[in-house]
Amino acid sequence: MDDAMTALPLVFDAPRRGTPPRHLADLTREEARAAVAELGQPAFRADQLARHFYRGVTDPAQMTDLPAAARETLTEALLPGLLTVVRHQTADNGRTRKTLWRLHDGALVESVLMRYPDRATVCISSQAGCGMACPFCATGQSGLTRNLSAAEIIGQAVAAAAAMANGELDGGPGRLSNVVFMGMGEPLANYARVRKTLDALLTPAPHGLGLSQRSVTVSTVGLVPAIRRLTEEGRNVTLAVSLHAPDDELRNTLVPINTRWKVGEVIEAADAYAKKTGRRYSIEYALIRDVNDQPQRADLLGKLLAGRLAHVNLIPLNPTPGSPWDASPLPAQREFVARLRAAGVATTVRDTRGQDIDGACGQLAAADSVSVPSVAVPAPSVEPTVELGAEEDQ
Ligand code: SAH
Repeated sequence: MDDAMTALPLVFDAPRRGTPPRHLADLTREEARAAVAELGQPAFRADQLARHFYRGVTDPAQMTDLPAAARETLTEALLPGLLTVVRHQTADNGRTRKTLWRLHDGALVESVLMRYPDRATVCISSQAGCGMACPFCATGQSGLTRNLSAAEIIGQAVAAAAAMANGELDGGPGRLSNVVFMGMGEPLANYARVRKTLDALLTPAPHGLGLSQRSVTVSTVGLVPAIRRLTEEGRNVTLAVSLHAPDDELRNTLVPINTRWKVGEVIEAADAYAKKTGRRYSIEYALIRDVNDQPQRADLLGKLLAGRLAHVNLIPLNPTPGSPWDASPLPAQREFVARLRAAGVATTVRDTRGQDIDGACGQLAAADSVSVPSVAVPAPSVEPTVELGAEEDQ
């Protein structure tokens, strides 16, 4: 393995940069009502603002249920524009659209909206950059810029829902049905904001997007304390674990967090999640030619997962700039699938939507002509007992 590819430190603590302006989506319903009252407006206007926000209405002129004189004040105070479109790129005959967003401080993130015959899924970012340093992932190689606020994460899903409703993707108007936290960042390293986002996604309209638990997927490198915390919270969304290797030796290099929480511990935490929620979890496994795609690794993975409430999602590696690695050739993929299935493990191969616009898994790098410095501070000496992602909103 190329040493240069694994040299990045693990970064847990997001650099503190200016927090985005206050937004309705960061507040509880009570807090929003109080904020509206402070502006001298009746508290129920908070509900009216929520209705507009979750429908993707941002233009005060369209908020005709609010008194004209109060529209500007209320939207400025509670619905500031946090996400500015830098550009959209489409692929797959207009059925995939990647959006590059600029945040208030110039940080850049991407989200990808994908339309399928039976559903529409948006892949959202939870951090600008990522501190988990996985060597095959473009975001991981860019380092961590900062955590996103709840409103910045929720805003990506709301924009996708509005884009579907407005028929902005080929195929006419439709409905956003699924959200996956598989864009930039490690969602469980930004736990408090992601938790708030889950509430907003699952809460029925007008105070949320009204998605079903099973259609929301949180994908993680395996931050065990945060998986346990998610288990206790009872939100019952789908959990996906980025495993990429069945053995600690290889996983230590592909998913460096494995040096802290081993394969066995991650699987144990995922099993507990499955037991509590009654829901099968996904194991994500990027097939990398001659790195993790050997028949014996398929057998090892099959042995590890047989009899568990797990499903394997194989992802042929999406190429990233500067990486020496390739996707596994088709015969190796087929052999891998066959061996897992023979072991009794449900296995699918993920399609690579948006690959030609660098919009597929692990390709999100949010590159733009204006470069944003990404801050990779040296790994702090965090004790293994430290609960990651425990940071609360201030
Ligand atoms: N931090 C979260 C979300 C990351 S993106 C996590 O790691 O789970 C979602 C998936 O894409 C993860 O499984 C990630 O490992 C995978 N991925 C990253 N880079 C990839 C690449 N170049 N090709 C294929 N999959 C990749």
